[in-house]
Amino acid sequence: MDYKKYVKIVEDWPKEGIKFKDITPLMADGEAFKSAVDEIVEYSREKDIDIVVGPEARGFIIGCPVSYSLGVGFAPVRKEGKLPREVIKTDYGLEYGNNVLTIHKDAIKPGQRVLITDDLLATGGTIEATIKLVEELGGVVAGCAFIIELSYLNGMEKLEGYDVLKLMSY
Ligand code: AMP
Repeated sequence: MDYKKYVKIVEDWPKEGIKFKDITPLMADGEAFKSAVDEIVEYSREKDIDIVVGPEARGFIIGCPVSYSLGVGFAPVRKEGKLPREVIKTDYGLEYGNNVLTIHKDAIKPGQRVLITDDLLATGGTIEATIKLVEELGGVVAGCAFIIELSYLNGMEKLEGYDVLKLMSY
């Protein structure tokens, strides 16, 4: 499917110089959203996934229907102060700003095979931090799936050695 027609590019948002890729039109179209989720499910099926992990907020939107369809659980990665129980944390820089990400300490059991999902791979900072949290808990990152890759920001360099699916590239 040509997903690009469902992505609206917003110039200079949230900061000057950023071309924000808005995937809400893709999410709003039942056929396009189902097709994107199904592609990620197909990619994951042979990977023996035990749990899906996604960073807030758009990682939830992609990860939850994938986990439901695979019949496995979902664990959220959230900004500091949002998860109610004991967490581990890591900080990182992103295309526009800085962030601390956390995950519940008992979210993943050692040896569990994990699929990480997010809407978009930009600099790779978010996914790198998410991988770090998963691996610190003893999880095995079996795959990473994105709707969009911004190839000009070279996020793939941070994912060397990992299995990655991207549905479209800019
Ligand atoms: P990064 O950590 O640089 O790979 O940034 C990835 C995260 O920031 C993703 O969760 C995206 O939702 C968001 N993001 C970064 N750049 C953009 C962009 N140009 N358009 C839309 N979302 C973006």
